[in-house]
Amino acid sequence: MKVAKFGGSSVASATQFRKVADIVSSDVERRIIVVSAPGKRFKEDIKITDILIQLAQAVMEGTACDEIVQAVVKRYAEIAKELELPADEFTAELEKDLRWKMNEYRHDPCRLMDAIKASGEDHNARLMALYLQEIGLEASYVNPREAGIIVTDEPGNAQILPESYEKLYHLRKRRGVLVIPGFFGYSLEGNIVTFPRGGSDITGSIVAAGVKADVYENFTDVDSIYCVNPSIVENPRQLKEITYREMRELSYSGFSVFHDEALEPVYKAGIPVCVKNTNNPAAPGTWIVAKRNHHDEPIAGIASDTGFCSINISKYLMNREIGFGRRLLQILEDEGISYEHTPSGIDNMSVILRENQLEGGKEQRILDRIQTELEVDEVHIEHGLALIMVVGEGMERTVGMAAKATAALAKANINLEMINQGSSEVSMMFGVKEEVVADAVRALYEAYFQEASVGNEV
Ligand code: ASP
Repeated sequence: MKVAKFGGSSVASATQFRKVADIVSSDVERRIIVVSAPGKRFKEDIKITDILIQLAQAVMEGTACDEIVQAVVKRYAEIAKELELPADEFTAELEKDLRWKMNEYRHDPCRLMDAIKASGEDHNARLMALYLQEIGLEASYVNPREAGIIVTDEPGNAQILPESYEKLYHLRKRRGVLVIPGFFGYSLEGNIVTFPRGGSDITGSIVAAGVKADVYENFTDVDSIYCVNPSIVENPRQLKEITYREMRELSYSGFSVFHDEALEPVYKAGIPVCVKNTNNPAAPGTWIVAKRNHHDEPIAGIASDTGFCSINISKYLMNREIGFGRRLLQILEDEGISYEHTPSGIDNMSVILRENQLEGGKEQRILDRIQTELEVDEVHIEHGLALIMVVGEGMERTVGMAAKATAALAKANINLEMINQGSSEVSMMFGVKEEVVADAVRALYEAYFQEASVGNEV
């Protein structure tokens, strides 16, 4: 049995719906379909989810909503009409549902936002099921509550509860093709709760793990995952195969193909993932597996992301001070801040975090507390950092991987702000100024993927 998830661009129009139907009907193993809300049809288009967020905000602010409701209705009406489905009936139901939610949750901003956001996927799944029935498939819409997707009650940040998996397993017994909306579940209290943005990937992965699928197919709009962002390096190498750990590291640091939380359920269940293109389903795609069969490349990919900063602290004899690290991290915890890396030396320590977490006076409070409570010699924040992750399971068996990177960056005249390598040896992190990140990625790509030898396997 296969679970196939179709992302926003794969379900953005009637043409895309037809492609999905072809893909689904071409393989009887594709028994469960998870869909996103209609995404972008062209570059400047707006995703339904973004329109729905605007709608929820308008309700909260008490500003005009009708136009926004009509924009949503119009998108679905266009798809339904072109597919020759009963569009008026469908959109009347949709509008009724939206207006009910707008009214029901108008005094509860978090609930309102989640209920409205989730309706993008919900209506698209209903429409997809209708279309699959129309073309003669035995298909049905399954609501996440009925499917058993039970989550924590944190608006916008749902986490799956373990009991869901047992419930989901029962879906195996159902006949025909099941269409489940992505992006949300229900809390034990009965509330609609969404996953973080891009969270339909998470639903797909949870469902695949729950029904113990043989494969989780993730349909998107590229033929494969590339080893580096194609907007930085032209025509980069396509990846045939990548491990869960490699994918996790890459998607954390800027690979937008796959949501970084989405791999956990399939990883734990040992279910292989195949990332495929809805617009070119014949292409083999990229497999995400536990162990790579092709070990010829020690490096799987290079990812980068901007928007980081580093709190740099130095104190003479820091290494002897028991509890220093804990007290430092406690200050961040008190402000509700998560950190990414902590490179350190004997008398200095840096904490790297996403700088958008420092808004609302937090930066000054943190600096003051570090200065007074930890009595440090110096503390300052360096803004505007980019992190580059060089990722590959083969790295630990290959000599000279870090040397290759530093030589390439030096040759390109790029100043390295920091280097960090975790004990797992799946990745190396390089911190550079945001202005030079694209040059740095290109230099690393050239060094690892274009030069004849990539180090000696040992
Ligand atoms: N529609 C949601 C979003 O745009 C979830 C998803 O597409 O995965 O974030």
